[in-house]
Amino acid sequence: MRIVSLAGGIGGARFLRGLLTAAPDSEITVIGNTGDDITLYGLQVCPDLDTVMYTLGGGIDEEQGWGRQKETHVVKEELAAYGVEPQWFGLGDRDFATHIVRTQMLSAGYPLSAVTEALCARWQPGVRLIPMTDDRTETHVVISDERGRRAVHFQEWWVRLRASVPAEQIILVGADEARPAPGVLQAVADADVVILPPSNPVVSIGTILQIRGIREALEAKTVVGVSPIVGGAPVRGMADACLTAIGVETTAQAVLELYGSPLVNGWLVAEEDAGVALDGVRVEARPLIMHDVESAAAIAGAALDLATALAGITGTGTGTGTGSGRAGQSDAGRDEAAR
Ligand code: GDP
Ligand code: CA
Repeated sequence: MRIVSLAGGIGGARFLRGLLTAAPDSEITVIGNTGDDITLYGLQVCPDLDTVMYTLGGGIDEEQGWGRQKETHVVKEELAAYGVEPQWFGLGDRDFATHIVRTQMLSAGYPLSAVTEALCARWQPGVRLIPMTDDRTETHVVISDERGRRAVHFQEWWVRLRASVPAEQIILVGADEARPAPGVLQAVADADVVILPPSNPVVSIGTILQIRGIREALEAKTVVGVSPIVGGAPVRGMADACLTAIGVETTAQAVLELYGSPLVNGWLVAEEDAGVALDGVRVEARPLIMHDVESAAAIAGAALDLATALAGITGTGTGTGTGSGRAGQSDAGRDEAAR
């Protein structure tokens, strides 16, 4: 089975680790968010690609959810001793090596997709990880503070300001010119099903959907999403601040409506959010907290079961589903009509 998944950082990576456990024999292509990318000390940093790569490759700091395990921060301390800014972004020594290799390859003329593939040769994440685009895009946030109304890099708003200043606008700079990276549209076209993990709907999934052609390609497929919002709040992080910025309520219902039909055909919500509904979408309620790999695998298995049922694919047997069964002919036919 060929699966395409979009992904941001922590939420995406933890879900994907579950998906690999739930469907070990499938071929998974991950389209990664690069809107969070930032140039620091002359180095190109891709936080979401690295979170996916480290998590699936066994190098992640589990506690923190990002960065390398057994990390040290000597370089950061030395930079601070020189008074080099910014000092609010925590790059560890091991992590620095990744950004040095990436920047060196980019400077030599390799596109980010080729660089990512080269970095993954070390980490063997078990999925094919492709950045959404090889073109430079950056998410910027318009805020008003004592320095007036201005745009700051997403990371400055998120990490330095902890999203405490309201975002007036969230803009993906470069979105108009950016094209999908090589392999992205082909992977979607070849996919049996597409899964949207519980990544940030605005600055992770929403960013990827802004790259020309990606949304249209996904609309032609069977897509199942997992709600990142449980009981009216993000499970982790500050996605509520991002949703508020674009005028969307922080509820599983509102995020479903944001993605909308025909993009999404199936939607998993937490049990306390049962009752969420949208025409043309099959909604199922499940425990949606990823406590560990097993619970992530149960969620991923349920998403995959729903997707295969909606796509009318039979006998894929992920074995981790909750017994919803495979779609019969009539089910598949009805869902096809609904799409
Ligand atoms: P980031 O780039 O590191 O912020 O990570 P993502 O964009 O991939 O994921 C962030 C989103 O994941 C947040 O909106 C969280 O609500 C969501 N999330 C994190 N852990 C869980 C979980 O256990 N269950 C669900 N349903 N969502 C989660
Ligand atoms: Ca991110």
